[in-house]
Amino acid sequence: MLMVGLDAGGKTTILYKLKLGEVVTTLPTIGFNVETVEYKNISFTVWDIGGQDKIRPLWRHYFQNMQGIIFVIDSNDRERIGEAKEELMQMLAEIQLRDAVLLVFANKQDLPNAMNTAEITDKLGLASLRNRNWYIQATCATSGDGLYEGLDWLSNQLSNR
Ligand code: GDP
Ligand code: MG
Repeated sequence: MLMVGLDAGGKTTILYKLKLGEVVTTLPTIGFNVETVEYKNISFTVWDIGGQDKIRPLWRHYFQNMQGIIFVIDSNDRERIGEAKEELMQMLAEIQLRDAVLLVFANKQDLPNAMNTAEITDKLGLASLRNRNWYIQATCATSGDGLYEGLDWLSNQLSNR
């Protein structure tokens, strides 16, 4: 499982909230932090995307065998939702991720000005995705709300294959 999103979206918070196991942080080659957690036979790999065109080619190394992508959005960050969309679309264009299902966590739903899932669906252009199994889940990583619902969807998709 791959979990990515712009920095400060809530990925690290999610990892710890899920209490899957020990979070290991590594810094491969020219400096991007990768967090990994192993849980049963699933491995979660997490990093921040955005504004790093130079290191983008290095990501491919991690794309192999990824069955699911969790894309974490800061629902309160209206300024960067366009950037998030760009990053998401570039990633989905990767051939190795062709068959990966997509779960979007619309995180920080506890904040009063947060965009709801309909607005985020629209701004990310999810409805126009072709040949992609996707789902969007409202979450609050700090309380844990929505996290397991999203993962249940993901696990159902993968077991139906
Ligand atoms: P990452 O860069 O994607 O790993 O984001 P972090 O997990 O480090 O979270 C960035 C900041 O957002 C931290 O201060 C978190 O406490 C906060 N945060 C994460 N999830 C939520 C949430 O659901 N609601 C609120 N209000 N804050 C959150
Ligand atoms: Mg983090």
